[in-house]
Amino acid sequence: MTEQELLDFDRAHIWHPYTSATKALKCYPVAKAEGVYLELMDGRRLIDGMSSWWSAIHGYNHPAINAAMTAQISRMSHVMFGGITHEPAVELARLLIDIVPAGLEHVFFSDSGSVAVEVAMKMALQYWHSRSCGSKHGFVTVRSGYHGDTWHAMSVSDPDTGMHAIFNKNLARQHFLPAPRSGFHDAFDAAETAEVEAFLRQNHENIAAFILEPIVQGAGGMRFYHPDYLKEVRRLCTKYDILLIADEIATGFGRSGKLFACEHAGISPDIICVGKALTGGYLTLAATLCTRDVAHTISDGSPGVFMHGPTFMANPLACATALASTRLLLQNNWQEKVLTIEKTLREKLLPLQQAESVAEVRVLGAIGVVEMKEPVKMEQIQQRFVDEGIWLRPFGKLVYTMPPFIISGKELDALCNGICNVITP
Ligand SMILES: *Cc1c(COP(=O)(O)O)cnc(C)c1O
Repeated sequence: MTEQELLDFDRAHIWHPYTSATKALKCYPVAKAEGVYLELMDGRRLIDGMSSWWSAIHGYNHPAINAAMTAQISRMSHVMFGGITHEPAVELARLLIDIVPAGLEHVFFSDSGSVAVEVAMKMALQYWHSRSCGSKHGFVTVRSGYHGDTWHAMSVSDPDTGMHAIFNKNLARQHFLPAPRSGFHDAFDAAETAEVEAFLRQNHENIAAFILEPIVQGAGGMRFYHPDYLKEVRRLCTKYDILLIADEIATGFGRSGKLFACEHAGISPDIICVGKALTGGYLTLAATLCTRDVAHTISDGSPGVFMHGPTFMANPLACATALASTRLLLQNNWQEKVLTIEKTLREKLLPLQQAESVAEVRVLGAIGVVEMKEPVKMEQIQQRFVDEGIWLRPFGKLVYTMPPFIISGKELDALCNGICNVITP
């Protein structure tokens, strides 16, 4: 197939994320990927600034992960998980329990982040059902959040960016508090959590869980908020008997500078969701972990089982891949790498704050965000990034990067220079 034939068929027949079938924007055909480079069909090589949406932390085509996958394929790619277990699932669960915040001891594997969030929300509902607190069925969250595209995940995502109005008739109505205001590096304003407490004091009898992304709000606005906010939310959830669900699907596995972003606040949630970088961006896999209290309460109540079970639950190939990726991360000075990336992002991107078109620049861990004053014109700006030899996918007013942790100093300089050249030509 020629490149043009491929693009023509794609444009005529294939949906892409959040795009139109009739006014499709330009797509770039990638032929292969290696290290931090995406190679286009025409041979151009782009430095990947997105890690394929937070996931490819070790870059592409990594020999250690490839080897683990090949070994697993020659044993089995998949077997059902009903009535069967296997080493990749057990080893991965053991490792996850070991590295996530303390107290999360029971693992539910699923296929994607959105499903992991659905599972977490169902756990919370079944928990209160088992405790005969049927009135506790609402969820509270904060604005500017993003938890996925399935129904209940969408119901707790930001109503504006999630376009709730379109789905109003079918969408569960949840409680939205204002987005956390104090930035990660600002002084903390205790008035923020006083509002949270006022709300919980009034409504806790109807609330099953508080769900939020710890510290970094990703696709809902790329905001970094103050650890004291999270610490206080944890305290209030305990005080008012509300489960805390931490959605670490974007932040997990080192991205924010801690292995899990909850560590910035020194807290453990009752339920945590991980996904995205879990397999190093190789395959789709997610997990929901909960405390013994949550798991045992659900299991000792009626109907006595947790009501969920995906066909591809704990897919052995995905589990073996996740195990290899996570071991690689832990063995490879990830913290130092993320700190080095953070330092360069600061040096190179913070000066953009002076640019006329820029509202604010924010950096945390291996995440750099340039918030523009006006929404970007996606097709044009993407073309200019590609001309600079870099791959970024901005949305709205947000130009942002979260490069693979293996990026070299030289490649990161080139990535940042490309961003600067496009924003201040
Ligand atoms: C991406 C993301 C999800 C959804 O994950 P999918 O694998 O795309 O379904 C949920 N929560 C957060 C915080 C995310 O970043």
